[in-house]
Amino acid sequence: MDTKRSVLLIFTGGTISMGESPDNGSLAPLDMEAIQKLIPELEMLPVSISSYFFDPMIDSSDVDPEFWIKISRTIQENYDNYDGFVILHGTDTMAYSASAVSFMLQNLTKPVVFTGAQLPLGVLRSDAKENLMSAIEVAAAYEDDEPIVPEVSIYFEDSLMRGNRTTKQSTEYFNAFESYNYPALAKAGVHIKYRTLYIHHDHSGLPLEINTKFDTNVAILTLFPGIKETVVQSILQTPGLRAVVLESFGAGNAPRAEWLFRQLKAATDRGIIIVNVSQCHIGTIEMGRYETSLNLQKAGVQSGYDMTLEATVTKLMHLLGNYDDNSVVNKKLQESICGEVTLPTR
Ligand code: ASP
Repeated sequence: MDTKRSVLLIFTGGTISMGESPDNGSLAPLDMEAIQKLIPELEMLPVSISSYFFDPMIDSSDVDPEFWIKISRTIQENYDNYDGFVILHGTDTMAYSASAVSFMLQNLTKPVVFTGAQLPLGVLRSDAKENLMSAIEVAAAYEDDEPIVPEVSIYFEDSLMRGNRTTKQSTEYFNAFESYNYPALAKAGVHIKYRTLYIHHDHSGLPLEINTKFDTNVAILTLFPGIKETVVQSILQTPGLRAVVLESFGAGNAPRAEWLFRQLKAATDRGIIIVNVSQCHIGTIEMGRYETSLNLQKAGVQSGYDMTLEATVTKLMHLLGNYDDNSVVNKKLQESICGEVTLPTR
């Protein structure tokens, strides 16, 4: 590192923000003093580290759009004072938060690295220390005065991944996250090796802006063999509903039942946006490849390509919050905002 870089650690909650109380062994939120005692190696990093603790810190199952706004505001308020940001966050909904924050932080030119842990600090074999140390290193990594990873990412175990490409895949193993449809941005072994080709850079030259508009009138409809019309109907007729993520089979297929076509078509005719994503993690939607997806196309369902469920839900909330006109939302759904989707080459 050429100059001593500064990184702000933003503790929002989750396992990584907790430690075992020496008195009774119960898990309690930590403060910076306790963290420094548990990770004396932090002192060895050639980085100036500051910390900010949310009050209260929360389990990430309680995260909502207000919380995403709080994270983004904290970054915005401190943007000029730090070279990079590390967000300590529970793993359960981290992929949703990283996706949402990636859509909110517009014209981002500094690293924002989410990380967490499967085991709290201070617990034998905890992964918290490695994840935190490496996330700080990534947030402070600059070359020729330029940040190496100026986008929203997730660091876990040995991988740095684009945040809006990740999914939590394990509650057991230390590789809690996977980026199935986009290569890792860096791999950490003895050295952290950056794959610069895959890293997103904003060239707008505009100052950071945060977009805080979300509309949560979104539902997820997961198909399964034997699904009943009444179930589909009740989801599609949810009052106020504006968009549905349809979790289909394989490359975007669905039962050919006449009633399913009728329900989906009636919903799109009422102005509900339906986006097709696959229940498979790897690969992309190819509507029209099989006969079983032709009806979806005819019903006005559109492709979510290779987007994760987390990115699709938060992208929809973000677009619906910003645009009342469905034709604009539809158009934007066919574009990549910040690398969350691989669009087919036409
Ligand atoms: N339930 C915790 C959370 O997501 C799990 C974790 O931090 O890994 O907040």
